[in-house]
Amino acid sequence: MNVPAAVPTVAPAGPAMLGGPDREHLDPPAATAALDSLASPAAEHPEWIWRSGELVPWEQARIHVNAVGHASTAAIFEGIKAYRADDGERLLLFRLDEHLRRLFDSARICRLALPYDFAQLKAAVLDLLRVNRYIEDAYVRPWAFPSGLIREQMVPAGSACEVVVDSWPFRARLDTGGGCRAGVSSWQRVSDASMPPRVKAFSNYHNGRLAMMEARENGHDWPILLNERHKVSEGPGACIALVRNGTVITPSLTSGVLESITRDTAITLLGELGETVVEREVDRSELYLADELFFMGTAWEILPITVVDGLTVGAGTPGPVTRRLTAEYTRLVRGSSDRHQGWLTEVPR
Ligand code: PMP
Repeated sequence: MNVPAAVPTVAPAGPAMLGGPDREHLDPPAATAALDSLASPAAEHPEWIWRSGELVPWEQARIHVNAVGHASTAAIFEGIKAYRADDGERLLLFRLDEHLRRLFDSARICRLALPYDFAQLKAAVLDLLRVNRYIEDAYVRPWAFPSGLIREQMVPAGSACEVVVDSWPFRARLDTGGGCRAGVSSWQRVSDASMPPRVKAFSNYHNGRLAMMEARENGHDWPILLNERHKVSEGPGACIALVRNGTVITPSLTSGVLESITRDTAITLLGELGETVVEREVDRSELYLADELFFMGTAWEILPITVVDGLTVGAGTPGPVTRRLTAEYTRLVRGSSDRHQGWLTEVPR
């Protein structure tokens, strides 16, 4: 066999349609740029990654190109946040157990047999954060994908799985304040009848990505997707709530949303703050009459929406309920609240 002495390098061609001035529309507005670090690889990678039962140096965590394509259609994941406590000492994972439970729920619906149990995965997350020695806040992503050379178009149920946990530094936007501009998307949220949004599957984010690109093209920061019944569902990476006439209203869990842990946290905290919270179907036009509007998610935290489809929400600044919730949420995740201590897991040093 003839082997060329040197393989010519071919630079990847730039995307034809995204060159030129149009590209600017895809750049994130400053207010929400921090959130986009979720989507772009960190310039600096951590030393370690957890893979299949062991900590391996980042460079050695490789996979054969042939194993990626089909396997990724069936992959599931979780996104967990670890906050540096106000005391500057502790690194605290927020609601780790609930996130891991949801990973197992996603695995069940997708019929993936995770080769590790709850305790092993919990130990994996803690181990990884310990060896990566984060000084500031970090994001942790456990994910599972069918491994090996799957040649079928459809990944069979029960295929052997690999589990990886990776992590990267992640700046909280809780500390920066400010709001964002949202717009209702022309893309419809995937439905429970086609691709359940309740599952945290990578494939579902194709739907969110289409909506996000459209939103940026139209001058919004983030999209709000309606479901197949034309009711409000969620953003591409967060649930949503509105405040109107003193009541907090959020789409029910059967509105085509992920069973968000931040949403659950917000409902609990708002109740403790004396607010009335209602979970029900939400009409699009209710967004336009809201006194306050905000997204809720692990990465997005409590993100106020100050403009929706070009209409100013309330006074155009984060409203009082949103601000009180954000303050309480911040105290909680940074270990300064005496409530819900069970939601915090300290990373061992
Ligand atoms: N919806 C979607 C589509 C998401 O990706 C997320 C982020 N995980 C959320 C809602 C919020 O969920 P959580 O509060 O559990 O992070």
